[in-house]
Amino acid sequence: MSKLKVFYTDHYEVELPEGHRFPMFKYRLLRETLLLQNILSINDLEPTPLLDEYVLTFAHTQDYINKVKHCQLERNLERLSGFPQSERMYIRSLASVCATILATEHALNYGIAATISGGTHHAFPDHGEGFCVFNDVAVAINYFKHQKKIKRPFIIDLDVHQGNGTAFIFQNDPHTFTFSFHGEKNYPFRKEKSDFDLGFPPHTQDGFYLFNLQLYLSECIERHKPDILFYNAGVDVIKEDKLGSLDLSFDGCLERDMIVFHLAEKKELPIVVVMGGGYANPINPTIQAQLNLFQEMKRFRLS
Ligand SMILES: [Zn+2]
Repeated sequence: MSKLKVFYTDHYEVELPEGHRFPMFKYRLLRETLLLQNILSINDLEPTPLLDEYVLTFAHTQDYINKVKHCQLERNLERLSGFPQSERMYIRSLASVCATILATEHALNYGIAATISGGTHHAFPDHGEGFCVFNDVAVAINYFKHQKKIKRPFIIDLDVHQGNGTAFIFQNDPHTFTFSFHGEKNYPFRKEKSDFDLGFPPHTQDGFYLFNLQLYLSECIERHKPDILFYNAGVDVIKEDKLGSLDLSFDGCLERDMIVFHLAEKKELPIVVVMGGGYANPINPTIQAQLNLFQEMKRFRLS
């Protein structure tokens, strides 16, 4: 019954000022390369339409939504988000939330879905941080819980940065499990408390990282008994990444993804994959690690 669908949002791309650190073009480049290398076909890809902005209220305050929408963020909040505010940035951020909502709906019906966007785990209810305006996974989880389509979500956040916004949003929610592996010296410097956190020292390599993933992930899933997985597959764990402090190889990063997918298959759990970070410069190693991830997703099967 598994049928991968990938939702993309690069038709809402925002032009950033010259020299901005965030590689906005990487989303389009990944989508085009996935097609070019026949990893995905045109039928696997779906342009994300905008849903009613009301969905944002499932994880954000109305006051914050209004400020982002009308470009009225205070200077310090704008700086904290990492992006210059604009109407277009609001639309793009809304679109990436919509992509994760649509991906969740698809995963519930067909086992697996992904977005070429999202994983914006540094966004809090009332402000954004670190290139994250709205928290797509938090919105989607609260939205589908409200619809009573999911009860016990489990977030596997393997992006190199801790998902501080996500951990904060679900800190008092016993039904949602937040699991984070991250670089202990990486942003955010003040970490929030997830249900399970493991911070790795700089230059951690494949063996130690994967050993711990094998050790803890399955145990936490066993304990929580989830009905759906959300996987933040940020590839900023690779050695070539400019913002990440860990030294995973391409093979190590792929094995990380395989461990996650094998567990989902074994436990027969639907899985939503969101992109998270990736900041190699030039961007090629980031794209390579993401191509490997998508290739693995194509193989995913729920019986
Ligand atoms: Zn990251």
